[in-house]
Amino acid sequence: MKRTQVIIAGAGPTGTIAAYALAQRGIDVLLAEAQPDCPEDMRASTFHPPTLEMLDDLGLLSAIDPLGLRAPVYQYRNRRSGEIMEFDLTEVSDVLKYPYRLQCEQWKLSRLICARLEAHPHAELLYNHRAIHFSQASSGVVVSLEGPHSITEVQADYLIAADGANSLIRKWLGITFDGFTWPEKFLTLTTHLAIEAYFHNLAYVNYVADAAEWCVLLRVPSLWRILVPALETDSDIYLRSDEKKQAVFGGLFGADGLQAETSHRTVYRVHQRVAQTFRAGRILLVGDAAHLNNPLGGLGMNCGIHDALNLVDKLTAILKENADPDPLLDRYNRQRRAVMTDFVQRQTIRNKHFIEAGTEEAQRLGQLQMQAVLANDAARRNYLLQQSMYNSLQMEKAIA
Ligand SMILES: Cc1cc2nc3c(=O)[nH]c(=O)nc-3n(C[C@H](O)[C@H](O)[C@H](O)COP(=O)(O)OP(=O)(O)OC[C@H]3O[C@@H](n4cnc5c(N)ncnc54)[C@H](O)[C@@H]3O)c2cc1C
Repeated sequence: MKRTQVIIAGAGPTGTIAAYALAQRGIDVLLAEAQPDCPEDMRASTFHPPTLEMLDDLGLLSAIDPLGLRAPVYQYRNRRSGEIMEFDLTEVSDVLKYPYRLQCEQWKLSRLICARLEAHPHAELLYNHRAIHFSQASSGVVVSLEGPHSITEVQADYLIAADGANSLIRKWLGITFDGFTWPEKFLTLTTHLAIEAYFHNLAYVNYVADAAEWCVLLRVPSLWRILVPALETDSDIYLRSDEKKQAVFGGLFGADGLQAETSHRTVYRVHQRVAQTFRAGRILLVGDAAHLNNPLGGLGMNCGIHDALNLVDKLTAILKENADPDPLLDRYNRQRRAVMTDFVQRQTIRNKHFIEAGTEEAQRLGQLQMQAVLANDAARRNYLLQQSMYNSLQMEKAIA
């Protein structure tokens, strides 16, 4: 049987960060990933300023920064009137060391970290190894990993479940995933079309409100991502069809949009869910295994990274300084669950309601409220600190 101090299931952004931070602190870690590599999917693309500081502390920022685009400004636009409201993070550079969002595909971070883990004396990385079962006792955990040809058993002090939204570990533990699923689907199309030519003064991050079809326009280094809502009753085949692409691109970019090609067409369901607990004895849930939210505001992956680093601090105190585990791990659960329920869930639901408000009148009222925030120095500052996740980390620190 293999032996390590911490075993982590899942090499997404949350699991890789946890593994790297633990290894850097001299704690032996085994990271098991079910896939043959970190999946190269088009999901998170925004790293918020406090996350950039965390990456800097880990010595990762100088490597990831050149792989992304710096976006100090994000916009709320009205699709009908064309009105633009701009929020500029450099206004709060007195508290944000890196006052910009980094627009960068999430898999670039996971792969960068995995490359470092492979050479790290305190880390072992096993691709093609899926955690399929586990047991725990007062002395530790035993995890069974299914590899291509055999089952490997690993004994460890702690298991971190970073195995994503469908977490097998959460399901085995019988932890309920309370919340709801939005009725509509979300469709993401990516394109190399230079869409900035079709809008005045487009930023890298743009939330475009509309009663009929709101959208999010996000730039990553390789392409533009266009996110629109879709009817629950529309089939996935239709939503990925040329007909649907023509309707979306024609509406946004006119005749040129009809010719434009896409690199990805992704349909997905969106959930607002938080696990009933992030801790079951020696097993800790982090990232999407513990919580899900809609992508408006770009909070999900950032939250997973914040979970991971909060937990690593606690595990370091336990494994390196013999601290009493129960108070620390219970505090991890209290702090990160509170951030999710009291901040992330509320904020992302508010963000969605603002952009989608279903009548012209509701759109007008939302617009007026946002204009009022923008025009007031204190309210604008608070909004910038809220959306950048600075406030949520202050909130976390205040929780005993
Ligand atoms: C369209 C879209 C856009 C988004 N945009 C943003 C954004 O801009 N900013 C943001 O912060 N968030 C965003 N998110 C959310 C973000 O993608 C997720 O929150 C993030 O990927 C969660 O990371 P994770 O490591 O917890 O889980 P995942 O990235 O899902 O990684 C889980 C890993 O575990 C592996 N795995 C699964 N089961 C097992 C097992 N049993 N054993 C071993 N390995 C296993 C999987 O193969 C996978 O590699 C977006 C999501 C979507 C869908």
